[in-house]
Amino acid sequence: MTEIRDTVILGSGCAGLTAAIYTARAGMKPLVLEGHEPGGQLSITTLVENFPGWPEGIQGPELIDNMKKQAARFGAEFQMAQLKTVDLTTRPIKLQTSAGEICTRTLIVASGASARWLGLPSEQALIGHGVSSCATCDGAFFRGLEIAVVGGGDSAMEEALFLVRFASKVTLLHRREQFRASKIMLERVMAHPNIELRTNAIVEEVLGVDEKDVSGVRLKDAKTGEESTLSIKGLFLGIGHNPNAKMFTGQMDLDEDGYIKTTGNVFTTHNGAVIPGVFACGDVQDRRYRQAITAAGSGCMAALEVEKFLEEHGH
Ligand code: NAP
Repeated sequence: MTEIRDTVILGSGCAGLTAAIYTARAGMKPLVLEGHEPGGQLSITTLVENFPGWPEGIQGPELIDNMKKQAARFGAEFQMAQLKTVDLTTRPIKLQTSAGEICTRTLIVASGASARWLGLPSEQALIGHGVSSCATCDGAFFRGLEIAVVGGGDSAMEEALFLVRFASKVTLLHRREQFRASKIMLERVMAHPNIELRTNAIVEEVLGVDEKDVSGVRLKDAKTGEESTLSIKGLFLGIGHNPNAKMFTGQMDLDEDGYIKTTGNVFTTHNGAVIPGVFACGDVQDRRYRQAITAAGSGCMAALEVEKFLEEHGH
């Protein structure tokens, strides 16, 4: 007989690990499937300055590691596996994963969101050869070199500020004049002597495909249409994220960008009706706040709803 779990948590970022801490502490022995980006976005970020309780800030990977230890201490189990398919109509819910079939009474979807790419063939061809979406992973390769960051939100600002520790110059390329970034981050970028801001700059092509090494970008001015090239050795994308919810298409209500639609904070729906025992938390269902602390908060809510659900169903 296959074991039926009380709860399985998809994703090991801030939301999933908070759900794991709460469900583990409530004695549910949650199984956390770590997914294709273990630790989520915090594990590829640097200093987190706004997570309450850390007056001097804390490194993202350390925060994640602490959460994981905290969940494990209460009995959470972790598995390096990815969800392949799921049938949300059966009970128990059956998950087909890269590590085999798993049966569970409840499911917490905390699969987060993954970095977005421009989608240019030249960009795709040069990933790992000067094109990157992870400043913290690849920044050190660009010591003393000129590079560019694409984007106008906090991610792009954060990447630019991190990368300028290595690079001799960072050009921040943004496709329009208004920035989504918070004022404090934008001001830090603008004040930095080695960061140049270029607005209305659309990346049309990444140069260096034949050499398999980035040598520059071809840009178009969004207002004048004028074309130019910028010589750089690295291009970092900081243009946001896509929700990891494709596997629920047709079984769960998703919005136009693929985020899980939730009601009552963490309840999932299909054709407007609540899906019993299936909850979503963190960035996969949050296009508005997307903060570590809000992800953690919704992970806690999902865990409490799981506890309530199991209690109501006599488990
Ligand atoms: P975001 O706020 O959605 O910004 C994405 C940026 O990328 C926008 O400026 C957007 O341009 C640009 N962009 C998107 N697609 C593009 C494309 N195909 N080509 C060129 N540019 C493109 O995403 P984010 O910066 O990842 O931030 C997400 C959330 O996380 C926010 O709430 C943010 O505050 C938070 N965050 C906070 C911190 C921090 O506090 N330290 C760090 C990182 C993120 P348009 O403006 O023209 O759409």
